[in-house]
Amino acid sequence: LLFAIVLCTCGRAQQTFSFLTDEQNAFVQSEVQRLTLKQKAGQMTQVAVDLIFEGPTYVLTVPPMLSEERLERVVGELEIGSILNHPSRTYPTPAEFREYIGKIQEKAMATTGVPVLYGQDAIHGANYVKGATLYAQPLGIAATFDTTLARELAEITAYELKAASIPWNFSPAMDVGRQPAWPRNYESFGEDPYVNKLFGLAMLRGYQGDGVGDSVSVVACLKHFTGYGSPLSGRDRTPSYLPERQLREYYLPQYQAAIDAGALTMMINSGEVNGIPVHSSKELLTDILRGEMGFEGLLVSDWQDVRYLYERHMVAADLKEAVKMAIDAGMDMSMTAVTTDFPKAVVELVQEGQVNESRIDTSVARILAVKVALGLYEQALYDPEAFPDFGSERFARRALQSAEESIVLLKNDGLPLPIKSDQRILVVGPTSDNMRSLNGGWTYSWQGQEADTYLTDFNTIREAVQQEFPGKVTHTEGVGFDTLIDIDRAVSLARASDIIVLCVGELSYTEDPGNINSLLLPAAQRRLFNALDALDKPIVLVMAAGRPRLMSGMSSRSEAVLYAPYPGPHGGDALASILSGRVNPSGRLPLTYPREPNSLVFYDHKHTEARNGTFNPLYEFGHGLSYTDFSYSDLELSSRVLRPADTLTVSLRVTNSGDRAGRHSVLLYASDLVASVTPSVKRLRKFTKLHLEPGESQTVTFQLQPEDLSFIGRDMEWVTEPGTFRLTVGELTEEFDYEE
Ligand code: BGC
Repeated sequence: LLFAIVLCTCGRAQQTFSFLTDEQNAFVQSEVQRLTLKQKAGQMTQVAVDLIFEGPTYVLTVPPMLSEERLERVVGELEIGSILNHPSRTYPTPAEFREYIGKIQEKAMATTGVPVLYGQDAIHGANYVKGATLYAQPLGIAATFDTTLARELAEITAYELKAASIPWNFSPAMDVGRQPAWPRNYESFGEDPYVNKLFGLAMLRGYQGDGVGDSVSVVACLKHFTGYGSPLSGRDRTPSYLPERQLREYYLPQYQAAIDAGALTMMINSGEVNGIPVHSSKELLTDILRGEMGFEGLLVSDWQDVRYLYERHMVAADLKEAVKMAIDAGMDMSMTAVTTDFPKAVVELVQEGQVNESRIDTSVARILAVKVALGLYEQALYDPEAFPDFGSERFARRALQSAEESIVLLKNDGLPLPIKSDQRILVVGPTSDNMRSLNGGWTYSWQGQEADTYLTDFNTIREAVQQEFPGKVTHTEGVGFDTLIDIDRAVSLARASDIIVLCVGELSYTEDPGNINSLLLPAAQRRLFNALDALDKPIVLVMAAGRPRLMSGMSSRSEAVLYAPYPGPHGGDALASILSGRVNPSGRLPLTYPREPNSLVFYDHKHTEARNGTFNPLYEFGHGLSYTDFSYSDLELSSRVLRPADTLTVSLRVTNSGDRAGRHSVLLYASDLVASVTPSVKRLRKFTKLHLEPGESQTVTFQLQPEDLSFIGRDMEWVTEPGTFRLTVGELTEEFDYEE
């Protein structure tokens, strides 16, 4: 024990980071020693410059982006070490950002001599930077089942953030979305932890590149550690209840993989898990995250969450107690956002002996280590001219591809549209003519309201369909999202049309403003559907929504159904070219599409849930149709027995047996037939995406290792139990035994 204590003390005295060189580590230590206590508290503080205030309420200041007075107060007097976001609705260009951040850095270097770490939520492109490339939201990216594309998209974002001198991105969110009503489902990669892991890793690598000090890479921030995606009520920031087995099997592995892959920063879940606000959970933030998972980097709070420990969660009596609680739990930086009381409390706690200064030093070292890794001391500003591909056609093509491949064809009896010269299409519905339903939140601003008024050169669904089918399209909205406007006009236009493209769904939102009471579509939209359905004309239903809003009665009565999970600004064009058949859809559902309000069971359900119709989704996870046919054959295993440390090679032949080229993802599931903890009916274990010309075949191979079949056993440890496993790819299945 004594030995351990000695080791531990030395470790603290010479805190080093595996991602820094010896010289850099020494520099970090000398910086920690150089800074005053107040400056250290400042390093641990992040504020939103446009919102800052010190009274009971705050005001949004638009513009100026950054007044001299404010800069002086925040960076000069308070010596704050990190700043987030930018004043909403100002849309700075890369050059303006450089100027803005340049002023901050100049002030910071003149006061503390430590560069400020500036961060933003660029979750589907550098969405606050004017002219940047925006693409599908994470849920849509997951629907592409193409991790190579995901990485390329993240590389575009890193490049464009760097062009604006923005070094830190609050993305990817690796919250497994396991509550369909949760308003942030679309910010996750869907319901499956493996899909979240692979896409999170792809985006992490895209952002961070070969090293975060590169001229084209930024530092990623994994969020929101952990359990955020499963609030019982479905409302944002409400309690999650996650038994330890569930927590360890579904809500830790994706973060572990990203830590192992070099993630340097992480954000804390704003909610509570099992009755403990995560910002106060030493068990999660220190024992598990640092101790078990080996995270060395910077752990930032979410928005105002230290305050919320006493204002909302009621686990602390006042701010000071809350600050102590979060620091004791393991937080390094407070996204204190609109107030500046955090650093003051830190100083007092240390002066009063309630928090040891060495604990503060540990956090400050982690923060400085990230600044050093980013090379911010040497170069915090970049010349936008050195980024000629910013907003380029080349990047836009990738964004368009993400839109096209994120759209899922759920049902198809009539697409592509068989348009003859005399046929007319009615485009109708509340999502038919606005950009917000294509982009979702975090688009030019938090709630994405600006998508319709700013950068209007993207096509809504209506505009794109009109361009795709010139002279054949009429349009009216018919209803608002939940208000009746003019159903009669919609019905009369529909009478004069041959095909109805009915666009229903949601507007943009995130967090609290996106809370709903029901997954059902609002009554107005259902009434519009019923009125049009009564006409007995073919309906193509387009569900443009960030979560699976229910459409069971509608889908069976529609000729074709498309799900567009926030495909981004190119979503209108993507949908129109899928309707006409210029693009062959290839998206697959990264979530289980529920049929009924109470049939909320995920694809990896238990056998008891498979009985009696409990598992009765409208469309299964992984479902997605194409205009061509893909057939599978020759599923072969390299052996019928897998042993520890061995690899099982699984191969199959995929053939495009239809008459059009297409992209297709192949999903390999494994079922543990008998296990000591009730096994899921199946679990996705591998996937890949192919392009096949008509008649072309390709052999796909997957490598399976025993760890790929593991679960959290009775003793709460990962285990792969001996026994028989069944592999399933489409209709094909094969079995093998795992033997120790
Ligand atoms: C969100 C985070 C985000 C942060 C900064 C919070 O409200 O929960 O995901 O990174 O704001 O904008």
